[in-house]
Amino acid sequence: MRHETPSDSDDSGLPSGDWGLGSGDSYHMSPEDFRRYGHEVVDWVADYLAGVGDRPVLPGVEPGEIRAMLPDAPPDYPEPFDAVLADLDRVVMPGITHWQSPGWFGYFPANSSPPSILGELVSAGLGVQGMLWSTSPAATELEHVVADWLVDLLGLPHEWKTTGPGGGVIQMSASDSTHTALVVAREHAEGDVERMVAYASEQAHSSIEKGSRVAGYGHTRFIPVDDRYAMRPEALKVAVEADLAAGLLPVAVVSAVGTTGTTAVDPVRAIGEIARSHGLWHHVDAAYAGTAMICPEYRHYQAGLDLVDSYTFNPHKWMFTNFDCSLFYVADRRPLIEALSILPPYLRNKASESGRVIDYRDWHVPLGRRFRALKLWFVLRAYGAEGIRHHVREHMALATDLASRIDAHPDLELVAPVPFGLVSFRHILGDDATDALAAGVNASGWAYVTPSVIDGRHFVRVSIGQTTTTAAHVARLWELIETTVRRT
Ligand SMILES: *Cc1c(COP(=O)(O)O)cnc(C)c1O
Repeated sequence: MRHETPSDSDDSGLPSGDWGLGSGDSYHMSPEDFRRYGHEVVDWVADYLAGVGDRPVLPGVEPGEIRAMLPDAPPDYPEPFDAVLADLDRVVMPGITHWQSPGWFGYFPANSSPPSILGELVSAGLGVQGMLWSTSPAATELEHVVADWLVDLLGLPHEWKTTGPGGGVIQMSASDSTHTALVVAREHAEGDVERMVAYASEQAHSSIEKGSRVAGYGHTRFIPVDDRYAMRPEALKVAVEADLAAGLLPVAVVSAVGTTGTTAVDPVRAIGEIARSHGLWHHVDAAYAGTAMICPEYRHYQAGLDLVDSYTFNPHKWMFTNFDCSLFYVADRRPLIEALSILPPYLRNKASESGRVIDYRDWHVPLGRRFRALKLWFVLRAYGAEGIRHHVREHMALATDLASRIDAHPDLELVAPVPFGLVSFRHILGDDATDALAAGVNASGWAYVTPSVIDGRHFVRVSIGQTTTTAAHVARLWELIETTVRRT
């Protein structure tokens, strides 16, 4: 019979000897096999990262093609792990989009790095549930430390540290952080939620509208932008006053530092002043551009953070830390905890009741949480602040250089300023020529750029920020753009 208690056991209480996969008395992978396959998998990932630049960035599969290679039912009995790994190459790889390619210029980066990958591995190995301080003190305290370090590294107000009245927490995504901020703002405000209004610019990320909808706001207002696609604060003021006059309740406003469309920067201070005078919760969405603030010369873009209640940025975009890792800060943690804390009897414990610890389950919607601080800690230590600055500055210099080449080209024009690592441009002959340009670049296989639309006109987004993208890759991209333009 399988599943009997193994007869041999050493004094660790664990079964020893031949109890490996399918060996007869246990279905678990043996520690020896785990070690062997673990080394093999790390080698596989190292080879993947070394060769990813030689693969076509986009997969060439049709919908359903990957699924058709897989059986309808899982196996009843154990399969050799070698067979599983072989299918990784045979079945999975043909359907992978290579976000880690140095030719990745699409969307925003979702970059990664070896220290981050190793942090994820250790986190999986420890398998802790960090919902309360007491369910793994190191998970909570390491998260305080990396969040507090980043306050200094990004030039955020020092009151936002966990040692002060505020604090930072790692959430899964900026969408979750923004949703949380809107829930806290709603709870903090008084009145009928149906009459509550949340504001953001016309260029705000879709997560703000979604967060407002999920949080139950009766209204979401999209405020007009200027010719640089930044929110016009006087238009916000007009909208807030019109809503008040109509008997509605203005509750929250979201400023973007780096919009998704073109990395436009809303005037944080001017919006903060309007928020203060009308008692609105002011949240900043710096999901992508927050990473740039590690370089002090970029911090003027977020001036006015003293008038901000909450802030989010994603190390999982541009800070060499793989998804999921979104930092969410609050200037004052009390309204957050008041909004989200529920204490069932089975979670009561001495440490929490002492008031000397933070229980992160009260800082977001989920109860359970992964040990995400570990990968960020590995990254911050393995690169050092200077290492991150070096690469982020290099990406931004490459973007500036590409922008000046585009600006000087007779057939191309920039559609927006280039404050960070995103270059937005189009063909002067219009939408068809612009689409042909994006399609021509993407047909090369080794590079990927995103076609997009702003003000009803098509444009091309080139986002420079993948971990291993260097000057040589951007030079090659420029050559490709030039030859494609000549052909169109
Ligand atoms: C990417 C992005 C988001 C969404 O980030 P997720 O972590 O995927 O939820 C939100 N806002 C801006 C400005 C972004 O660029």
